[in-house]
Amino acid sequence: MKKIELHLHFDGSIDVDYANKVMGKDIKKEMIGSGSKTLKEYLDKFQLPIELLQDIENIEHFSYLLAKELENDEVIYAEVRFCPLFHVEKYSLTQVIEAMKRGFNKVSTVYVNFIFCMMRHFTFEKNLEIINLTKSFLGHGVVGIDLAGDEGNYKTANFSGLFKIIKQNSIPFTIHAGEADSYESVNSAIDFGVRRIGHGVRSIESLETIRNLREKKVVLEVCPTSNIDTHVVSSIDKHPIKKLIDNGVLVTINTDNRTVSHTSLNHEYQILQDTFGFTKEDFKRFNLNAIEVSFSDEELKEKLRSEILEDYK
Ligand SMILES: [Zn+2]
Repeated sequence: MKKIELHLHFDGSIDVDYANKVMGKDIKKEMIGSGSKTLKEYLDKFQLPIELLQDIENIEHFSYLLAKELENDEVIYAEVRFCPLFHVEKYSLTQVIEAMKRGFNKVSTVYVNFIFCMMRHFTFEKNLEIINLTKSFLGHGVVGIDLAGDEGNYKTANFSGLFKIIKQNSIPFTIHAGEADSYESVNSAIDFGVRRIGHGVRSIESLETIRNLREKKVVLEVCPTSNIDTHVVSSIDKHPIKKLIDNGVLVTINTDNRTVSHTSLNHEYQILQDTFGFTKEDFKRFNLNAIEVSFSDEELKEKLRSEILEDYK
């Protein structure tokens, strides 16, 4: 079935075989996050891909390989995110973005837009720089901004100043929240006026947060396997996705990191179907939810909607 994927990190989704070839060694162990004890440890897995993603040819080829993976999953629209400051040691951001576009455009069945990530451990000034970069690249392949990184040690509430600027500049935004930190992190994101949240699964800890999500129609970008890897949940059957949906919360299904979490979107759909008995009708709704809060323009949204409705008839 056709799919929309909104929560996908470029550096966490590089092709392992090609990475091995470039590095001249087997890097699988260094990149798979399932043995991590914390979100912080899981995030340490991104060092190596960031190293690889400085070279312009690598960037283009990894983009192409990721596009092929998306095609295998029948993804027709994806928003791929990354921190722009992580890939500009050797080349300008314009060159990096152009290389990504060249790579992704080689696969014509998948339409890709980019989201820039601010990082929680960065200084205010550095994240402000990312806001300004987002502003200047909006409409040139970039459609929005995110806040990613170590949620456990850097509270969402502390970023209100940055999100004020983001809103003043009318930049579409999403926030990782309610993953390593509790429902309070989700509350902060809702206070900032967010329409979609990365993970958000720990909203399950508070009925009031759930009610807030429901009333404001905030959509959660749920990434089940990733949540197991970072110990938000102990196993798939303990995942709160079904409870959240039963409480009226809107969700989308995503991989987060295809390599680090060693998964595909087909796999995520499969384990959710096997564990919770979700039907075609459910998956259709998840994809329509995704289109609703995607950062694409209305024209593309309309096209995606009709493709999904046709495919899930
Ligand atoms: Zn993420």
